[in-house]
Amino acid sequence: MGMTPKEKTPFLVAPLEKLINWARANSLWPAQFGLACCAIEMMTTASARYDLARFGAEVFRASPRQSDVMIVAGRVSQKMAPVLKTVYDQMLDPKWVIAMGDCSSTGGIYNNYAIVQGVDKLVPVDVYLAGCPPRPEALIDALIMLQKKIRNENVFAWEPGEKNL
Ligand code: SF4
Repeated sequence: MGMTPKEKTPFLVAPLEKLINWARANSLWPAQFGLACCAIEMMTTASARYDLARFGAEVFRASPRQSDVMIVAGRVSQKMAPVLKTVYDQMLDPKWVIAMGDCSSTGGIYNNYAIVQGVDKLVPVDVYLAGCPPRPEALIDALIMLQKKIRNENVFAWEPGEKNL
């Protein structure tokens, strides 16, 4: 079967790959993982004013089994780290992570032993969002960046759990 030169996807299934990526990118269901002040902005992003339904990402889920994107909103304490990892592991593949704010991206102002210095020490991060806190518009921008990334993923070369640390 022929391959397209760039994606190494058999050309007969390339339109199917585009369709799958389009569907995944436009139906992101975020897992609620509000940990600190950034979570207030995340909750605001879900309000009617910002109309997240335009991007298919308005269905915030309380269960990791029903979620495919984790928005880590706030600093991650060492005590919370195993909980966060468990929730991530319970999400079904394919799944993605947005580190929302300086604290979840790098530890931010909490440069001490009690705080994980970046959630990427625990789970693979797809989009880092700077700010303290980032405004809802910035979170929407991060979602759009994630959608662009998903649209270019190689569906048929993907292995379950390949992004797990
Ligand atoms: S980045 Fe700023 S707003 Fe967000 S959790 Fe840290 S201190 Fe709070």
